[in-house]
Amino acid sequence: MDQPKCIFCSIVQGELPSKSIYSDDQCIAFNDINPVANVHVLVIPREHVTYLTETTKQHEKLLGHLMRVAAKVSEQMGTSEDGYRVSVNQGVNAGQIVDHLHLHVLGGEQLNSL
Ligand code: 5GP
Ligand code: ZN
Repeated sequence: MDQPKCIFCSIVQGELPSKSIYSDDQCIAFNDINPVANVHVLVIPREHVTYLTETTKQHEKLLGHLMRVAAKVSEQMGTSEDGYRVSVNQGVNAGQIVDHLHLHVLGGEQLNSL
């Protein structure tokens, strides 16, 4: 039987709609469907990478790129001056629900301290 398709791969392929914020050859960024802050953007690699813990040395360039895009997105969203948070949920304890690596970019208001 076919594996159920990854929803973020479907967004990358344009099969599911999303509010695009940024796109390049390695990644895309779009608004979270259920925002927990005034600004809540997800930055995801075009390549399907499931977990941060599954990444290897060959992903280092991509991971660095995703972080830089998160900074670019925060600037684009007008949050870089007042501050923002970039986070990755890894696994059950962190509440990861979509098994396609993604960076949350949160801002636009005072965020709870960690
Ligand atoms: P996680 O807990 O896995 O780090 O977060 C996954 C995020 O993806 C959640 O904040 C959730 O609201 C968001 N999300 C889940 N499905 C969709 C979708 O179909 N479209 C968009 N734009 N965001 C989604
Ligand atoms: Zn995927």
